Amino acid sequence: MKRDLTALSSQEFDLAIVGGGIYGLACAWDAAQRGLSVALLERGDFAAATSWNSLKTIHGGLRYLQHADFKRMRESIHERTALMRIAPHLVHPLRFVLPAYGHGLRGREALAAYLWVSDLIGFDRNRLADPAHRLPRSCTIGVAECLQLLPGLPPDQLSGAGIWHDCQLASSNRLAMALLHSAVQVGAVAANYLEATGLLRRGDRVSGVRARDSLAGRELEVRARLVLNACGPWVNQMLGWSGSALKVPMSKAMNLVVRKMFDGFAVGFYGRRAFRDSDAWVAPGRKTYFITPWRGRSVIGTTHGPFQGDPNQLAVSEAEIEELLSDINQAYPPAQLTRAEVCLVQSGLLPAAERTAPSRPVRLLKHYQLWDHRQRDGLEGLVTVLGVKFTTARHVADRAIDLVVAKLGRGPIRSRTDRSALVGGAIEDWTEFVARAGRERPAGISEEAARRLALLYGSEHPKLLKYVANNPALGEELDEGSSVTRAEVVYGIREEMAQRLTDVVLRRTELGAAGYPGDAVVRRCAEWMAAELGWSQIRAESELAPLWAWRDSGKSPPP
Ligand SMILES: Cc1cc2nc3c(=O)[nH]c(=O)nc-3n(C[C@H](O)[C@H](O)[C@H](O)COP(=O)(O)OP(=O)(O)OC[C@H]3O[C@@H](n4cnc5c(N)ncnc54)[C@H](O)[C@@H]3O)c2cc1C
Repeated sequence: MKRDLTALSSQEFDLAIVGGGIYGLACAWDAAQRGLSVALLERGDFAAATSWNSLKTIHGGLRYLQHADFKRMRESIHERTALMRIAPHLVHPLRFVLPAYGHGLRGREALAAYLWVSDLIGFDRNRLADPAHRLPRSCTIGVAECLQLLPGLPPDQLSGAGIWHDCQLASSNRLAMALLHSAVQVGAVAANYLEATGLLRRGDRVSGVRARDSLAGRELEVRARLVLNACGPWVNQMLGWSGSALKVPMSKAMNLVVRKMFDGFAVGFYGRRAFRDSDAWVAPGRKTYFITPWRGRSVIGTTHGPFQGDPNQLAVSEAEIEELLSDINQAYPPAQLTRAEVCLVQSGLLPAAERTAPSRPVRLLKHYQLWDHRQRDGLEGLVTVLGVKFTTARHVADRAIDLVVAKLGRGPIRSRTDRSALVGGAIEDWTEFVARAGRERPAGISEEAARRLALLYGSEHPKLLKYVANNPALGEELDEGSSVTRAEVVYGIREEMAQRLTDVVLRRTELGAAGYPGDAVVRRCAEWMAAELGWSQIRAESELAPLWAWRDSGKSPPP
């Protein structure tokens, strides 16, 4: 994949997608697969904003039972299966444990009923041939078994625990890249660091976007018959350009990556404060947090709070971090988490159902939005898509492109994205695939690196091995802890449009996925990039500066 701005500015596309988060990428793949000519513009790096910060849970929507929203549950369950089918290397089952208290709505009996209904609604969840992607039946366990899993949990009122399976992404970055590769392979033209700065118009018709290449500082035009606004938290900017009266309120969400708390399974805890979900039919009356295993550490999430103002100014306060730590320490006293143990703060903006005053609980938007601005505002050629979950991005893209295809008068061409393996996803038996990758690795690649490459790049990992076969120096590993090879850095630059050091550290490799990876690692990575791209010493130092700032802040990395 090459960043080709000439190709973007020298033709008229059927569709120009603005925003290269998970929604824009899923739309690009769906549209290009249906035969549309597609341009994708991302103002920063691909999937660097909200999509980078997700908890990485691909879930069947157990929580939606509280809203009696069976349709949404079915969608989520379908998407969980679809993602395991099309990206079997990146989406894997994960066991969840939720302690039960007393015999009311947070009790074991209520939990057993929830899980029974959830399994019933997900009756077809195991229609995949690969046993590695089976989701076992849910169940409840007694107090003694629960305490074995969660030693030190205060036994007061504990009546057992519920156990179910959802999925976890091995890497949201690699899924984003797999979507991008898949879109480009069928003809999409994409560029990062290309910001849409306005709409091109012919009368009451949108005919493309004006754009600015933030690397070279030059302006260009991308002409298209239809423009799709997939800007996530920045959705309002394009709505403003279009003259639409629509304005989407936003809310702030946060996760914390901390030291390892549990091994190999996720745990849910109820927060200490009363919490009223005004949309729920039945609700436990408390906010539920989940602690999921993540790269030898744990992620705690997700908190939601009101947000007003410029999405570029999103910031998390120390008080918000301390509040979440204190909630977890109270729910699970053996944790005794301290601020110093927070390795990474993940935060992002999500659409809210209404504007919320500070200190009030937010009502999140529950359903995706798809707006044809001809019907809304009398403006032809502009469609907005706004998603609410990473899990359902493929499904929403499918619906958005149905609308695009109809508007372009291309007749019904059905989406096949729930059945077509993504680039890297051509794997039938995951267990055998990863074992073979470790066994049959070429000389110069450690077994750990070979298995990791299989996990992250799936059936494309031989391409990286070929890099090493052609130049054994590329088998060199950055450090013992990560086993990231020089081949991955070079591949990210040559094949995946990595432009900046942060692109490689945070999104082409998993170096920064669980926190700042250390001065030696980022310096070495900068040296490798400098050698590949011919950076001067001054350029390399300027690339390091945002990473030093991240290290010193102890919070979120630069976008
Ligand atoms: C803390 C947190 C935890 C979460 N956990 C989960 C979870 O476990 N499971 C789950 O299913 N969902 C989860 N989510 C929700 C999920 O992450 C989001 O729904 C999803 O990532 C939104 O993707 P997006 O593409 O709409 O937005 P984004 O990823 O923000 O993408 C929008 C993109 O548009 C680009 N853009 C904006 N303006 C322009 C412009 N003018 N020109 C060009 N590009 C532009 C931005 O740079 C950005 O990259 C979580 C979210 C958060 C914040």
